[in-house]
Amino acid sequence: MKRLLLILSLILTSAAAQQAGSPPAQVTVIHAGTLVDGKSDKPRHDQVVVIRGNRIETVADAASAKTPAGATVIDLSQATVLPGLIDSHTHIFLQGEDPAQGGYDANILSAPLALRAARATVAARRALEQGFTTLRDVETEGAGYGDIGIKQAIEGGYIPGPRLLVATRAISTTGGYPLEGYAPELEMPKGAQIVDGPVEARKAAREQLDHGADWIKVYMTHRSWVGKNGELVSQPTLTVEELRAVVDETHGWGKKVACHAYSGIGLHRALDGGCDSIEHGLDLDDAAITQMLKQGTWYVPTLAVYYGDWGPPDTEAGRRDRLRAAVHEPSFKKALKAGVKIVFGTDMGGIPWTEPIAQEFSRMVEFGMQPMDAIQSATSRAAVMLDMEGKIGVVAPGAYADVIAVKGDPVHEIKALQDVQFVMKDGQVFRPK
Ligand SMILES: [Zn+2]
Repeated sequence: MKRLLLILSLILTSAAAQQAGSPPAQVTVIHAGTLVDGKSDKPRHDQVVVIRGNRIETVADAASAKTPAGATVIDLSQATVLPGLIDSHTHIFLQGEDPAQGGYDANILSAPLALRAARATVAARRALEQGFTTLRDVETEGAGYGDIGIKQAIEGGYIPGPRLLVATRAISTTGGYPLEGYAPELEMPKGAQIVDGPVEARKAAREQLDHGADWIKVYMTHRSWVGKNGELVSQPTLTVEELRAVVDETHGWGKKVACHAYSGIGLHRALDGGCDSIEHGLDLDDAAITQMLKQGTWYVPTLAVYYGDWGPPDTEAGRRDRLRAAVHEPSFKKALKAGVKIVFGTDMGGIPWTEPIAQEFSRMVEFGMQPMDAIQSATSRAAVMLDMEGKIGVVAPGAYADVIAVKGDPVHEIKALQDVQFVMKDGQVFRPK
């Protein structure tokens, strides 16, 4: 039986490879007018990047570089060339659900899974055409292991899309995730896997890792509101013991844990429990920042998503939305000043995929980050967090040939990153076609 399975899988793999066409080891030469390589602090001018197959072979001054015979030459001498960008917080299975059309709940209650997969396919393509060649997609919001399927479809060459690192179902507790607000007699589906107690927490992590999760995502806070003294209060979810079980299990598999955490008790439990990255971190107090520095915790602030789409100002939700944004800016500035490792993430999906992903860069720069620093947060620094240092997020020998180009000068005008003219992923030109 085992042998039969092996033969079957060999047949299937070779059929898929034939259909997809394995990338030929062709040689491509890119002439870059300006090169921002993702790691160096200064751009270099007039550079030649030689790509063999799906890897970068050399990067050299045009004056001294030789073009290999038979190479395809791509002239980007009037452009700024960068590594493919990395968004470390997305949801391809969300579409910025419009409350007027049933919002988050309708996506789970009404949309057939095939429809959700089709929309996720479009989201993946939209990310790639905007120059994002890698996504860390942090949970499917009720679409189970759908992200594993989309990842396989991209890797098999069936659909275009970025490299995906996926978190599958995510983990929260009873009372810690929608769908909610229905009659208590009804057993409603949830947007995350619900656990109570360290045993269930560890089991959920095991299941998700077993099914192919690259990261584990945990919700450490859920509801938030304006407190008695005008502060942002967040409902904590997992206990430190529950989180420790998840982190211990996940680290044992050589993988990492991303924690959604807004403020207060849940944020501190996230740090005490050993989360590898804090997602959103709306209200970081000094103790949290000190602990993040000590533990080497990554910070994925996802700023832009909190600065639009507020409820009406005279409602509870509206006041909460305004407070979230109000505390987020000083948190980001404090973390930046203290030297916390900040990584670019957007929460796309929470934002409709029709909007520009790169709008997050403008927020980061507006709040005091240097443009080159912001670029590195979406390239080489993200690559380190994702344990892919030197492979992605850099235009350098040995890296995958994920290369993009923009018309302007993003080091002086960060908005230039919203207008990506050229995209290559894994040595294959995706845009222009
Ligand atoms: Zn998110």
